[in-house]
Amino acid sequence: MNLPGLIVGSFIPDIEVPILFLFFSEGIDNHFILHSLVGALTIGTLISTLATVLLYPIIASLLFRLDKVKVKEACKLTPVLVFSCMVGNVFHILLDLPMHPYSLILWPFVDPYSIVGVLVIVFAVDGDIKLGFLIANILTNLIMGLFMVTIVIKSRRNLWEQILVGNLNS
Ligand SMILES: [Zn+2]
Repeated sequence: MNLPGLIVGSFIPDIEVPILFLFFSEGIDNHFILHSLVGALTIGTLISTLATVLLYPIIASLLFRLDKVKVKEACKLTPVLVFSCMVGNVFHILLDLPMHPYSLILWPFVDPYSIVGVLVIVFAVDGDIKLGFLIANILTNLIMGLFMVTIVIKSRRNLWEQILVGNLNS
């Protein structure tokens, strides 16, 4: 698996959130084609691949002072990189699934409102979907935050390089 591809891929679906928010502040808020499997496997993967190959080396070396040559080497266009971008996109959508009161995962085949996240239902006290969404959201972010802390503690040596590029020797 290619780590930069995975990182960029898991982030890309949410680039539609601010864009959609600007144009439609009401309605099915800010999830659309990039949060569907159809979109993730096509344009989501395409955008992620382009961003990983073209932008990631620049941004990673600029923000985290990594060796640009090394990062570029890790971001070379390969089938593994494209596949990793795809996995990142799908992983993002699956992670969004339990904590949202609707899902576009099967768009355009299934009505987004007929897919309600299981965590939202669990925490919807007195049928309050908004409250369920809020608690599910906080819980998911908390779990992901704990994951991050664990990674940071476990790999302090060359931390940024390991997190953002992966182990190049393996
Ligand atoms: Zn999302």
